Amino acid sequence: MPVIEIKTGKRVEIVDITGRVREAVEGGDGIAVIYTTHTTTAITINEAESGLIEDIVSTISRLVPKRAGYRHDRIDDNADAHLRAILLGNSVVVPVESGKLQLGTWQRILFVELDGPRMRRIIVKLVR
Ligand code: ZN
Repeated sequence: MPVIEIKTGKRVEIVDITGRVREAVEGGDGIAVIYTTHTTTAITINEAESGLIEDIVSTISRLVPKRAGYRHDRIDDNADAHLRAILLGNSVVVPVESGKLQLGTWQRILFVELDGPRMRRIIVKLVR
């Protein structure tokens, strides 16, 4: 089962993993599940336009501000990261036809780091 490992560089960061996923499903056919194994990361599909990437980061920061009285902050001070991850979701599903991801013209698979920098693991499972 292909695993994508990435090292993020910031606390909140969006990484376009489309190319890595494309390699992982090469030659296959079916449904690809792209799944993050962490509780403070997310995966979504959208455009990777640089202004939009900044907008996603600023919007989730506004929706779930840091240290807003969360109980989990008493343990490890990262409740905002968990809550942002819940809003965005931890997997996406993409059809794969003749080895090719069936993404729309502007669709990219985006990994969202919410409590970096860290090493992260993403599983790509192709269901035939
Ligand atoms: Zn935590």
